[in-house]
Amino acid sequence: MIEFKNVSKLYRKGVRAVRNINLKVDDGEFVFLTGKSGAGKSTLLKLITRELTASDGEVIVNGRDLKRLKDREIPKYRRELGIVFQDFRLLNDRNVYENIAFAQRVIGAPLSEIRKNVPMMMQLTGISSKYKSMPDQLSGGEQQRVAIARALINRPSVILADEPTGNLDEKNSEEIMRLLTEINNMGTTVLIITHSRQLVESMKKRVIVMDKGTIVDDYIDPSANKPVSAFFESETKKRGRSRKNPEFNGAGLKIVTDEDEW
Ligand code: ADP
Repeated sequence: MIEFKNVSKLYRKGVRAVRNINLKVDDGEFVFLTGKSGAGKSTLLKLITRELTASDGEVIVNGRDLKRLKDREIPKYRRELGIVFQDFRLLNDRNVYENIAFAQRVIGAPLSEIRKNVPMMMQLTGISSKYKSMPDQLSGGEQQRVAIARALINRPSVILADEPTGNLDEKNSEEIMRLLTEINNMGTTVLIITHSRQLVESMKKRVIVMDKGTIVDDYIDPSANKPVSAFFESETKKRGRSRKNPEFNGAGLKIVTDEDEW
């Protein structure tokens, strides 16, 4: 679980990029974080990855208060997160297999594990046939699949994706979103930063909207545009049960309205 309690982030130049944020993302949720440029989305993400520390308040991830994390503990903590970027960030001098394997090599995984896990991840992300290709021989959509396979291979509990479809055309964007949905259905929490309204509206997932450093909306069904933050506070247990319901988690997404059990 990711939890922000009264979190503010003040940059050195006096910019208050995040102001008194309270937020809970439960295990297994799929969440969009959206808002205009400069709203504070990247700052919030960097507070989760511990590239930044909060000026005030607490950021708690999987029960750990990130302010108390010692520098030497950060690499191990980050293994709990899989991070995907808009510009893919692949190693251009290594092929697909090696790009994915690299994430396992840096944590010292045994060769037998790597040989088992890399093909499994390539299959999951639909990139197996390109295992020998170099990144510059791949389309944008394929490069993002490799980046997702690399982010997943150490089995993080959370995938954080910063504008993952920002460099992709519509068809590839849809496929990447389908892949992230599949990964979420397997139990991984997915948090996606995007400023694409179209993307957010097409997915019918939880949407957190930021503006000027604060959360100004938090809702599930974009067409209804009903704030649900109050429910997230009081109904966490109930919702936990709902998510175990395959109907809620499956491909036929359940859209929450007033009429539902909430
Ligand atoms: P977003 O990701 O929504 O575009 P950011 O989190 O990048 O927003 O930025 C939020 C605010 O913080 C903006 O006003 C931005 O100019 C400012 N900001 C971001 N990074 C820094 C920094 N390193 N130093 C000073 N101000 C920053």
